[in-house]
Amino acid sequence: MKPEDQAQEIELAEWVKRQQQAIQPEPTKPSAKFCQNALCGQAIPEARRKAKPGVQLCIECQTRREQRAKQTR
Ligand SMILES: [Zn+2]
Repeated sequence: MKPEDQAQEIELAEWVKRQQQAIQPEPTKPSAKFCQNALCGQAIPEARRKAKPGVQLCIECQTRREQRAKQTR
């Protein structure tokens, strides 16, 4: 094997590694179409579902939950 061929081989291996890392792990749950808070049930915007894979709550409920988590510590 010529040195330049070997270099190409290494480059290819690096590229493959990068490609594998770029693939996101599957979210445990698919993004919900509607807020999973039984008291809410609001539709979750497509943009939010794409931005947050596996999202289960609408923005309002998520914010409220985060605020509560901060308060209870
Ligand atoms: Zn909600």
